[in-house]
Amino acid sequence: MERSALEQLQLKRLQATVRRLAKCVPFYQQKLAERGIKPGDIKSLADVRRLPFTTSADLRATYPKGMVTLKDGQLSRLHTSSGTTGKPKALFFSRKDVDNAAELMARCLTMAGVTHLDVFQNMMTYGLFTGALVMHYGAEKVGCLVIPSGPGNTEKQLLLMQDFRSTALHITPSYALYFAGYLESKGIDPRRDLALSKAFVGAEPYTEETRRKIETLLGVDVYNSYGLSEMNGPGVAFECEHKHGMHLWEDNFILEIIDPHTGEPLADGARGELVLTTLCREAMPILRYRTRDITSVIPEPCPCGRTHRRLNRIAGRTDDMLIVRGVNIYPQQIEQILMSLPQVGRNYLILLDGLDEMTVKVELAEAGFDGQVEHLVSLQNEIVSRLRAEILTKPKIDLVPPGTLPVSEGKARRVIDNRKL
Ligand code: ADP
Ligand code: ZN
Repeated sequence: MERSALEQLQLKRLQATVRRLAKCVPFYQQKLAERGIKPGDIKSLADVRRLPFTTSADLRATYPKGMVTLKDGQLSRLHTSSGTTGKPKALFFSRKDVDNAAELMARCLTMAGVTHLDVFQNMMTYGLFTGALVMHYGAEKVGCLVIPSGPGNTEKQLLLMQDFRSTALHITPSYALYFAGYLESKGIDPRRDLALSKAFVGAEPYTEETRRKIETLLGVDVYNSYGLSEMNGPGVAFECEHKHGMHLWEDNFILEIIDPHTGEPLADGARGELVLTTLCREAMPILRYRTRDITSVIPEPCPCGRTHRRLNRIAGRTDDMLIVRGVNIYPQQIEQILMSLPQVGRNYLILLDGLDEMTVKVELAEAGFDGQVEHLVSLQNEIVSRLRAEILTKPKIDLVPPGTLPVSEGKARRVIDNRKL
């Protein structure tokens, strides 16, 4: 769709969304009244900036049903956010919302080349979390054979993969790396022994280095997949065949990047907090949701020809940011350096103790230790000096044997903060 037609469609849908909320949701009625805005005042897309933000605290404050526009009997699905940060939030879908979320997901998968011939092994957590179910519905809509394996039970995952010749995986980056280690320990060469060709990896931040590692170890193309429960779950933004930035479906969402401190809009290319407004949601439309995810819009058009703008890889979450000795640090900065070193394995953990003491536990690669202690010491020194250059703090590095750090089935826990500040 041409940008001008796309923007016209966005405006029409935004107007309808604001009308709906002004009619049905007391929370928004009050917010709009405070700003003196009536639905008829939304005359151009730029007027979105006059609308109030919605935060995750607002969703918790209106829990359980304060944001719902439909009556009981018209709702068809409840999800909650996985609660990585604090109490869960309740998210409601109508029948139409469920179909629409599946449609967007199917659009993503088709963009990445998935067809009805694919066997899709869905290794995400099923349940209240949106991650597995929305993807499941999308893959079924494309016509794939879907295997709802869920995460964990690695031995069984492999069996399913071998017996049913799975070609596509949906998996978190941490589990993908863990799974690769398992294959290695069983002497399985994915290129020789399995039929895998694509993996859709998301739900938590990871770096380009980690993508390359998963691609090499599993013999797949990795596509970055972004979403959040508040905006349907997965299927909000996804990579096309160029694997360079994720197209965000702007016919369904209005995309803004703001300065997280001032709330002011930032231009394409500038890094800030992603803010999203739903345009097609029936049960629970949300205006200007502060995702807390830090990213930027890629200003250039994509060579694939799609006009939906692309997001850069999520650099982290404003609430993941660590302040160590006065310096702002995202765990991904540490991951990027670790994963670029071949002697480093698949897992790491950041520990904060006492008064700002940082220790990074780092798993060695299977082939990372040749028995010579001086090689360990020099690797340790190399990691320290590279990290110091990046995060301006000198952490202690503990090298540990492969497979010894805890692995989570859902989202990875990268930081343990026991500081007494
Ligand atoms: P919770 O907020 O409880 O973690 P969600 O399951 O809704 O619940 O998680 C959504 C969040 O997961 C996003 O806001 C983002 O921080 C993270 N996320 C999802 N996909 C990606 C991705 N591809 N890259 C980085 N972060 C991601
Ligand atoms: Zn593209």
